[in-house]
Amino acid sequence: MPRETLFLIEDEKNIVELIKFNLEKEGFHVLSASRGIEGLEQIQKLKPDLLILDLMLPEIDGLEICKILKQNPRTWAIPIIMLTAKSQEADRIVGLELGADDYVAKPFSPRELAARVKAVLRRTKEKPKEELLKAGELQIDTARHLVTLKNKSVELTAKEYELLKILMEADGRVLSRELLLEKVWGYDNALNIETRTVDMHIGQLRKKIKPEARRLITVKNAGYRFDPDS
Ligand code: CA
Repeated sequence: MPRETLFLIEDEKNIVELIKFNLEKEGFHVLSASRGIEGLEQIQKLKPDLLILDLMLPEIDGLEICKILKQNPRTWAIPIIMLTAKSQEADRIVGLELGADDYVAKPFSPRELAARVKAVLRRTKEKPKEELLKAGELQIDTARHLVTLKNKSVELTAKEYELLKILMEADGRVLSRELLLEKVWGYDNALNIETRTVDMHIGQLRKKIKPEARRLITVKNAGYRFDPDS
């Protein structure tokens, strides 16, 4: 079985060594960068199985890195575990909203980090394609291509359907307009004008799923998310 590659962006040398030592002992291949820009370049090239990302970094911080990766169709699926200080609760929340999968607060035990890494890998790899997506009164039966609201079918256009489905499948994560354009419309390099297409369709969708429209949340400077829980 090929070893899974973890990438670490962290500027504190002793933490890098601690993580490398312990996670390599667990059988992972661990690569690292101490600077954000360098890390971003490497990640695009290497496509690691998971990223461990320190929040406090010089030049470009962890939240910015998280946002960039989650907006890029080539890197958005890479799971991210954030390393935060105990006092950074607000950043942690923003990070999770931007699409990070989990966080570990410093100081942490290497064993705890290893357990989190394994849990996130398991969760993201084995996630079954669900046939029924549900949130409140709204439901998509993906096998039958059927959207219902309070058990009554909702007429959506093909694009509206794809848009709603991909947002619900993202399970609360933010998806950028660029990503939605690529996934739903098949555009490769979205222009600013084209991203308005997404906004238009979101507007239509909101009207059609009205009592549940509050779940379709606009995230400023990031994109859209579908809140399955509220
Ligand atoms: Ca740091």
